[in-house]
Amino acid sequence: MTMRSTLDFLLFDWLGVSSLLQRPRFAEHSAETFASVLDTCERIARDKFAPFNRLSDTQEPHFDGQRVHLPEATHAALAAYVESGMLAAAQDHGIGGMQLPCVIEMAANAFFSKASVSMGGYAMLTSGNANLLMAHGTPTQRDVFAKNLFAGRWFGTMCLSEPQAGSSLSDVATRAVPDADDFESDALGPRFRLRGNKMWISAGEHEITENIVHLVLAKIPLPDGSVVPGTKGISLFIVPKKLVDVQGALTGERNDVALAGLNHKLGYRGTTNTLLNFGEGKFLPRGAPGAVGYLVGRPGEGLRCMFHMMNEARIGVGLGAVMLGFAGYEASLDHARQRPQGRPMTAGGKDAAQPQVPIIQHADVKRMLLAQKSYVEGGLALELYCARLVDELHTGDERSARDAGLLLEVLTPIAKSWPSEWCLEANSLAIQVHGGYGYTRDFPVEQHWRDNRLNMIHEGTHGIQGLDLLGRKVLMHDGAAFKLLAARMQATANAALPHEALAGPARQLQMALQTLESATRAAWVHGQPEEALANATPYLQAFGHVVLAWLWLDVAAVCRARLADGIGDAAADRGRLAAMRYFYAYELPKVDAWLLAVASRQPVCRDMQDDWF
Ligand SMILES: Cc1cc2nc3c(=O)[nH]c(=O)nc-3n(C[C@H](O)[C@H](O)[C@H](O)COP(=O)(O)OP(=O)(O)OC[C@H]3O[C@@H](n4cnc5c(N)ncnc54)[C@H](O)[C@@H]3O)c2cc1C
Repeated sequence: MTMRSTLDFLLFDWLGVSSLLQRPRFAEHSAETFASVLDTCERIARDKFAPFNRLSDTQEPHFDGQRVHLPEATHAALAAYVESGMLAAAQDHGIGGMQLPCVIEMAANAFFSKASVSMGGYAMLTSGNANLLMAHGTPTQRDVFAKNLFAGRWFGTMCLSEPQAGSSLSDVATRAVPDADDFESDALGPRFRLRGNKMWISAGEHEITENIVHLVLAKIPLPDGSVVPGTKGISLFIVPKKLVDVQGALTGERNDVALAGLNHKLGYRGTTNTLLNFGEGKFLPRGAPGAVGYLVGRPGEGLRCMFHMMNEARIGVGLGAVMLGFAGYEASLDHARQRPQGRPMTAGGKDAAQPQVPIIQHADVKRMLLAQKSYVEGGLALELYCARLVDELHTGDERSARDAGLLLEVLTPIAKSWPSEWCLEANSLAIQVHGGYGYTRDFPVEQHWRDNRLNMIHEGTHGIQGLDLLGRKVLMHDGAAFKLLAARMQATANAALPHEALAGPARQLQMALQTLESATRAAWVHGQPEEALANATPYLQAFGHVVLAWLWLDVAAVCRARLADGIGDAAADRGRLAAMRYFYAYELPKVDAWLLAVASRQPVCRDMQDDWF
């Protein structure tokens, strides 16, 4: 089974995305146009990205003090991506977009993440940046910045983190002050001067495009020089590397944004990662030091604007993690089918006179392959389900849009974190299946692991996702989001119960859900955040596994029905049923151990003292 056949099954047979065609926004599309977008992206990813993925790793970005150098292949791959029109895939036809559903856009972009996640990084950041400007920018900001980003003339970044402010963005130290008395009359938006340092900025410097549009978080000091504490004081600014006029032409002036240096990463090396100095006086735009930036939205609403895009961004990160897992799974499956080693175990022991068998015939190797299959195909189902919810949020009727919004609140931390952990584990298992070969740079699986290791760190670390889930999401609106999710799980379990092949897992799911619900209550029994949240990460892990068990059962129900009706690819459906059984036999039982710590409000981590280590 190829990744494409899995994708097609999940999109069309499981999620029934063709039903979206009845909605006015997607009426000009057809199942054929959806398929043709997937075909085009699959082809570009195969021809322009995959062959150069290793090169982008070995020839990592190099700064000669003046310019950053990238392999020519990165330039060519991104030119092909821009040419495909995918930067504006979900945007209106009126501005040159394709008006594609989010679920198809995500599915199409999955090919690039699998072929070369780090080369694709520039494009993902650019469309995220432009989408944010479409939602929060003024008409001129959309015309000048978003449209040129969608056209691929310029690429974009997201500048949140600073050396001293990562998880805790309320502590950003970058400051923005009004630029001259006429600062409010600039056609590009209220004009400020920014000063500060931004750390870890992906795609912060390169020469792939003629300009780079940074979206920067900074605080505007009050008249007495103080700033509003916390995240409420944060505003958002467009800071172009090179200044532009209202027609979008470069003015020839360099903005005061300087590359302090590149970070040298474990993986994901094809995307430059930068420390940027804003307003240190290296350049003098409009005759003075200070980076020129244009306010987006209202002062103090910077983080709210950024978080508006968070659902899609975090689904994108999760999908990237899944695709790296998928790449490793396919490589290890291929290896396991070809590598002869050992002989079958029989009742009488091993017969050394017999020829060796491919390692895929050993139960333990099948265990490692099934684990990977259950993680990566389950992870793909999770991300597509969430992307489909985004479409429901934007184009569904009032009730289903409201439900989709609630479900996304509670599922987004899982969409980001679950594949980051378990598809990374898939990459580790892919190395294991390769034996010693997997530990060398002659095979691709070590790079997959290194590339994937980022995903538990950026876009909110694992720990922060757990705090968000247990500390906020399951409690919000009186627990409405969690209750709705639980009702969906119950519905899947109830529908599965009458079928012999699914009844056992359905009962297991019901029990796991009950344990999850009671552990959630027990964690908060005293209403003390310090007590409840000390075990937020095991809670996140347990919650994620229950969600995945639910989705696997839902997928398995479609496979069972197709086998009963004699339609579809029987081997593929049997494989999916086996992956579901694997997940219930080997993975779901882990939930009890995680939730034991949560429900007992296990104090060991919280009580541990610094000087006891
Ligand atoms: C390769 C790469 C690319 C990146 N790209 C970008 C980008 O394009 N733009 C951008 O703005 N940023 C980017 N980042 C930054 C990234 O988002 C941060 O690294 C991340 O938010 C964590 O911040 P930190 O590194 O300062 O770690 P810290 O915040 O110092 O966290 C360190 C550890 O402490 C834990 N921790 C922190 N606070 C708490 C708490 N309150 N409770 C419990 N545990 C806590 C964390 O979970 C983590 O395990 C990138 C990072 C990397 C490595």
